[in-house]
Amino acid sequence: MVGMIFTLPDKQRLVRLLCQDNISDMEGLVFRNYDESAYISPLRLIYAIRAMRLSEREIILLRQANAQVRIDSCSHRSPCIVLVIGESYNRHHSQLYGYALPTTPKQMARAKSGQLTAFTDVISSWNITTNSFNQMFSLHHYGSSRPWSSYPLFPILFRKAGYRVAFLTNQFARHANRSRSNQTGGFFINDQKLFDDLFDLHNRRQRHDDMAFLNAHLEMLKDGADYRLDIIHLHGQHFDYASRYPVKETVFTTADYQQRHLSDDELQVIAHYDNATRWNDTVLEKILQFYEDQEAVVVFLADHAEEVYDDLPVKGRIYAELTARQVRQEFEIPFWIWCSPSYAVCHPDVVSLIQASAQRPWMTDRLPHLLLYLAGIGHSDYDGRLSLIGPQADCKEPRIIEGIADYDTLIDGN
Ligand SMILES: [Zn+2]
Repeated sequence: MVGMIFTLPDKQRLVRLLCQDNISDMEGLVFRNYDESAYISPLRLIYAIRAMRLSEREIILLRQANAQVRIDSCSHRSPCIVLVIGESYNRHHSQLYGYALPTTPKQMARAKSGQLTAFTDVISSWNITTNSFNQMFSLHHYGSSRPWSSYPLFPILFRKAGYRVAFLTNQFARHANRSRSNQTGGFFINDQKLFDDLFDLHNRRQRHDDMAFLNAHLEMLKDGADYRLDIIHLHGQHFDYASRYPVKETVFTTADYQQRHLSDDELQVIAHYDNATRWNDTVLEKILQFYEDQEAVVVFLADHAEEVYDDLPVKGRIYAELTARQVRQEFEIPFWIWCSPSYAVCHPDVVSLIQASAQRPWMTDRLPHLLLYLAGIGHSDYDGRLSLIGPQADCKEPRIIEGIADYDTLIDGN
């Protein structure tokens, strides 16, 4: 029986898959189709049991790490901190980062006014949403001495420090039924106990359009809390791009890309992506307007970037051995910080630090350390070198994407 032939490469791939000691690395191999090496029923069962046990063990360890959290101090440096997480955002399609077409006119205007500082050298740690979220939420970073699951997740530290923590997500549906190891939205968000420990406020419904989502939920953030951490997670430029913006907001057509040697269908994909990027610009402006009259600092980033027929003739993301061309398109993300007018008046020191750090190399697995700096929260796992801004923020540690490849070495080699 052909189906029963189990080749040596299959065996090696299966062993590597089963030997992973954390769910993110296993997920990375699943995206590279390593699970196909378990193609007969007994092997599928072994793999499924291994994945489930790994996931359960990490949840138990995470619960323990979060239950034991104590903070050392909190200065409440920023009373209102907002984290906006975009989706599948290739910064090379952002006008703010030099793209030739006007995809981000509102962010451009904010930058011109001096309120918004665009960081030029920020990358995501993964090109897989779940894994990127796991790293963005955990005080673990690539270079940490302990396993990921032994570190706390940043929202719990904010709650301990007296911040009201809200999580508005237009993507993650919380499912108790976990039939796959890829549980959309960071698997920890699907654990009821952890979820309840992390957030005071959250939405129960999503909307197809990010603007409709904001219109339905932003007001719930006005709850009068003295200290607030608002996490807003958008659908952004998630495929398929054509459905991410209202038809009446179409600005770009295939005529805008006639110098590109691509098929009409491919040119249309680029036009849809750029239209979605421009609509996202309007959505982000809506968020900034909401915080305009508050003493607020807003951090925007994306979970990862996206291929849109640029260096490589593909769209989406590819899961193979990492190359410089792929990394440029799939990991180089937009990252900016906006300070409201009253925040800038009250915190000129922070504004100066932000502006002075705009060219600093950074990776999103270090995000909690920036947020803790903005709040002035002290904790034994806080590392000021990783915080991007601040007196100690001059990190020389390599940026190891997916925990395996040095981004700068990869890029410099090409
Ligand atoms: Zn994503």
